[in-house]
Amino acid sequence: DKEYVGFATLPNQVHRKSVKKGFDFTLMVAGESGLGKSTLVNSLFLTDLYKDRKLLNAEERITQTVEITKHTVDIEEKGVKLKLTIVDTPGFGDAVNNTEWLRPLDVEFMKALHEKVNIVPVLAKADTLTPSEVKKKKLKIREEIEQYGIKIYQFPDCDSDEDEEFKQQDQELKESIPFAVIGSNTVVEAKGKRVRGRLYPWGIVEVENAAHCDFVKLRNMLVRTHMQDLKDLRRMQEMLQKIQEQMHTQKE
Ligand code: GDP
Ligand code: MG
Repeated sequence: DKEYVGFATLPNQVHRKSVKKGFDFTLMVAGESGLGKSTLVNSLFLTDLYKDRKLLNAEERITQTVEITKHTVDIEEKGVKLKLTIVDTPGFGDAVNNTEWLRPLDVEFMKALHEKVNIVPVLAKADTLTPSEVKKKKLKIREEIEQYGIKIYQFPDCDSDEDEEFKQQDQELKESIPFAVIGSNTVVEAKGKRVRGRLYPWGIVEVENAAHCDFVKLRNMLVRTHMQDLKDLRRMQEMLQKIQEQMHTQKE
């Protein structure tokens, strides 16, 4: 079976005029090295964006800490073109020795960005936690986002004319934040089907199994249902920012 990313639904999100030109989307991944960012991106877009990367030794990793890289890839599905730009922030926070989520550096990072980008928090390597640990951690992260005043992407309110199924799906999405995700670059066999997953002595965790993690929810949101909103909102925020800056310079 051919795997699909699913962005062919994009024409439904925007004016048909843009279909011919194709779409562009920029996604930045942030977090310490080894967290699973590259694997997740590869799993989301089914492309090996990082195939040319070299393995770095420890010393190189340190010097590389906050070097930001950009990968661009054109993908096409059912005649719909998507120009995808991935901004990778390898090893952000590596130099800081702290194991708690939302340490000061993460908070500062998010606060510096939250007016400019739409932040979608994820909980990486969900397969290394038990379901109840995932639940607890999600709760804690949501509390801390609130506590530190970090503005994350807010799902738009459903139109009143949306059907019940859509509303329910949207509600589920909101409640899943931060998305607990699993990434994998390998295809394994589970119950006779070849799926993207991770093989353990006790069994297989499937990336695209909703019972195993929120990967499909995250991907649907990013590419099938909310891509246009994520982009529009960012533009609006850029505009607001410019207006605020102008007001500042006028005051001075
Ligand atoms: P990055 O430095 O954040 O880009 O992390 P990578 O994607 O390079 O992954 C680092 C290591 O974690 C690799 O050995 C991956 O195979 C592993 N890894 C990535 N995603 C997952 C996951 O969801 N679960 C588990 N258990 N390991 C993962
Ligand atoms: Mg990486």
